Amino acid sequence: MKAIGLFGGTFDPIHSGHLAAARAACREFDLREVHFIPSARPPHKTAREMAPFADRYAMVVLACAGYPAFVASRLEADERRRRPYYTVETIRRARRRLGKPVRLYFLVGADSFHELPTWKDWEKLLEACDFIVVNRPGYSLRRLQRMIPRRLLARQDGSKPAGGSRSDRRPRIALRRTAIYLLRGVEVPVSSTTIRRRTAHGLSLRGMVPRVVEEYIRQRKLYRS
Ligand code: ATP
Ligand code: MG
Repeated sequence: MKAIGLFGGTFDPIHSGHLAAARAACREFDLREVHFIPSARPPHKTAREMAPFADRYAMVVLACAGYPAFVASRLEADERRRRPYYTVETIRRARRRLGKPVRLYFLVGADSFHELPTWKDWEKLLEACDFIVVNRPGYSLRRLQRMIPRRLLARQDGSKPAGGSRSDRRPRIALRRTAIYLLRGVEVPVSSTTIRRRTAHGLSLRGMVPRVVEEYIRQRKLYRS
């Protein structure tokens, strides 16, 4: 079955940490595509705190242009929408749009994964698709395991998550229907917060965002203060 990664975020802006995580996930999980889904209405942020969606989306498009497997998705692109976009709904929508049965993995940084219990219908979300948690310094698989309620875990007696591909031999937390995989070895110490701060201080972004994104930020005068 074709495997596709979904990578949701604010992407304000997209940076080399996101790209490195997606590249590693592609390699390790044989993903055919990774869909980057910048959100026009993330649940925890107000419009004033973010660059306009059009700019954030444009930078995702520019960054993805260098990688045939990377797709800039418009699944959370409606700026007039009143309700925030919730990942649990986006995953369902992605499945419907894709039509054919696919194996979906939601990519998420370990920092965000730790906040999962604050996400809408998070227990349903964990059963909606597989997860690839990209490690960030200070997060262990055991710590992740502790946040999962026991009732969601697969029984030890062999009830296994669906799939059966190579990825099932990887370190994972097996849930009843799905699994949470930990992707190690890609710790890029960059965040969008760093990028915005450095830009406000007039510092170079070399190596932290693709050159075309750095140029876009300069041309559009984003993050100046
Ligand atoms: P901010 O500093 O504004 O919070 P961010 O760098 O965390 O931005 P987001 O758009 O908030 O970027 O994150 C989107 C997703 O990418 C989240 O799941 C986050 O955990 C993950 N992520 C962000 N930076 C990295 C990184 N350097 N390595 C791996 N995953 C990352
Ligand atoms: Mg973040």
